[in-house]
Amino acid sequence: MTTPSQPAEGRAIEVRCPGCGAMTLYSASNQYRPFCSARCQGHDFGAWASEAYRVEAKPSVEDIDD
Ligand SMILES: [Zn+2]
Repeated sequence: MTTPSQPAEGRAIEVRCPGCGAMTLYSASNQYRPFCSARCQGHDFGAWASEAYRVEAKPSVEDIDD
């Protein structure tokens, strides 16, 4: 029996980089998957991180000491 929808472990498949649209390997050897490079990954992470930071940056009552 074979499961065509599930690639064998270690087999690289090509996906389109969400950052720049270039085809890149989605495999264990690509640490930036599904992105093609650190540049594309960093761009997306930056947007996510800034959004997350806003949530954590809300004022705390513990800062009010007076
Ligand atoms: Zn890219």
